Amino acid sequence: MAKIKYFYNPHKLDFEKVGTSIWTIVLRVFGFLSASAVAGGIMVFAAYSFIDSPKERVLKRENEQYKLQIKYLNGRISELGVQLSDLQERDANIYRAIFEAEPINMVVRKPGANKYRSLEGFDNAEELIALNQKVDELNEKVRIQSKSFDELSQLAKNKTLFLASIPAIQPISNKDLTRVASGFGYRIHPIFKTHKFHSGIDFTAPQGTPIYATGNGTVSLAENGNGYGNHVIVYHGFGYSSLYAHMSRIKARPGQKVKRGELIGYVGSTGTSTAPHVHYEVIKGKNKINPINYFFNDLTEEEYQAIRNIAAREGQSFD
Ligand SMILES: [Zn+2]
Repeated sequence: MAKIKYFYNPHKLDFEKVGTSIWTIVLRVFGFLSASAVAGGIMVFAAYSFIDSPKERVLKRENEQYKLQIKYLNGRISELGVQLSDLQERDANIYRAIFEAEPINMVVRKPGANKYRSLEGFDNAEELIALNQKVDELNEKVRIQSKSFDELSQLAKNKTLFLASIPAIQPISNKDLTRVASGFGYRIHPIFKTHKFHSGIDFTAPQGTPIYATGNGTVSLAENGNGYGNHVIVYHGFGYSSLYAHMSRIKARPGQKVKRGELIGYVGSTGTSTAPHVHYEVIKGKNKINPINYFFNDLTEEEYQAIRNIAAREGQSFD
């Protein structure tokens, strides 16, 4: 209840109500409104500061989710990095070792200084830049690695062709290894009876025994002459040729493509020869080399050692 004020009127000797002027009322109303406004302002400010609006709550939740997602992505990228390292390890220690290739140069190109400038304004710039750096580094490593695999697949193709081409078996069937009669090196010449360099390996076998090409290639010569009698030369590529001499009959013709193990003629004793045999040579570039090192395809390790010992024996060649 509003207070009612009185004053004493000495003229009337009585108490009278104190009147309220219009200004007083205006001032009071204004005062009240001002106080209310200030109090309201303080309350609204407090509410906004300490209590989230529904919209803010949604935004905050989204923000938390983004943070979690970034963390998850970070983890995934790290996992990829580990897998890639594993590939690199295998590449360096197995694949490149098999093909005797130089180790790959794993220097990762550093991104330019301005690369992440567009990310700098964001609140979580540090996190975003780190994430982008990781992805870029992975990209670089994948690029280098895929280049390495291209190189390896080319090497593998060449190696496959190389292995199919070079001489790698004996020119006649020799299951019990009894047919190697004379090896590569200085031997007593069967006719001149002097020590002479024997530039191939002699395999004795009955007249008419099949003779096979020892690697894939092209017949470069098939003729009679040169003390070799009927003989065939196969060019294998990679600088390798093989020669088969003293045939009773030639089966191949010049220019013919042959596969390893394909019939090219028959054992005989034509040319400078003392008995039916095939004189077999392996030629690399311009040099006649020891064919014993080129029988690796059809022999076990023990057989290979045995045939080496047989071929190393001193004795007379069949030429
Ligand atoms: Zn010979």
